[in-house]
Amino acid sequence: MRRIYVLRYGHRPERDKRVTTHVALVARAFGASGFILGDVADESVYKSIAKVIELWGGYFHVEMGVKSEEYCVSWKKNNGIIVHLTMYGLHVDDVIEEIRRDSRDILVVVGAKKVPRFFYEIADYNIAIGHQPHSEVAALAVFLDRLYQGRELYLKFNNAKLEIVPSPRGKLVKILKAPNKNHT
Ligand code: SAM
Repeated sequence: MRRIYVLRYGHRPERDKRVTTHVALVARAFGASGFILGDVADESVYKSIAKVIELWGGYFHVEMGVKSEEYCVSWKKNNGIIVHLTMYGLHVDDVIEEIRRDSRDILVVVGAKKVPRFFYEIADYNIAIGHQPHSEVAALAVFLDRLYQGRELYLKFNNAKLEIVPSPRGKLVKILKAPNKNHT
């Protein structure tokens, strides 16, 4: 099966923790299998993602402190394609079918601080989720949703300790395995 990883470029630990964590959680929940934090490690982001995986299951690869540019170069050498999400790119609707037909692995690059020219050039696709500035979290969610055509919202995760029972009102959670005390 084709691998989808998300590379977060430009994370600033002093201001981006929450948004970067949300990028990673959206990546996992919307069907990607890996998250790469470029150029910097952030233990608190790592812990938040690890806690979600521990409780809600699934296989999800997380790497931090990897050099973003080198990672992109080696991704392409290994026959993967790169999709860079930017409001300056081509409209998602104009390219998504072509990307869906391609079976190669995809590295999705999303920025925090200004994204250098390098990423626009190495990307196979610079894609806009509409041409207004908004959010990397929203852009990633919409991109993955368009790619999977909504199927990702039905994903089941292996080894989950908790599972939600859909409920019209209130919260119903099935405990499949007792969570560790420090996670309750
Ligand atoms: N000027 C930026 C751009 O190139 O899209 C917006 C910066 S925004 C704070 C941070 C990240 O959100 C961007 O690097 C991009 O990955 C994503 N983003 C924001 N708006 C987007 C849009 N309309 N389409 C695709 N990605 C978007």
